[in-house]
Amino acid sequence: MSEDFFTNISTQIWGIASVLITLGFAIWIVNFIFPIVDMISWVTRCFVRKEKIVVVVKCSSCSTNNPQKNKFCSECGKELG
Ligand SMILES: [Zn+2]
Repeated sequence: MSEDFFTNISTQIWGIASVLITLGFAIWIVNFIFPIVDMISWVTRCFVRKEKIVVVVKCSSCSTNNPQKNKFCSECGKELG
């Protein structure tokens, strides 16, 4: 009776362990084909790029919106503050 109990427990542990190993192996393969780190950096880059488009500097002379990286107005050439 008690031997059966322990056999059942060890069978369950091995069942869980094999599921975890299979899951880990599957995640490893998916990570190998679609690198999660690359995906995260790609998503981050998308958000950063979106922010860069949103951030603009308005020219004090002609009110043209210029990208923040511009040092001079693309319309009238005045230095952007
Ligand atoms: Zn301007």
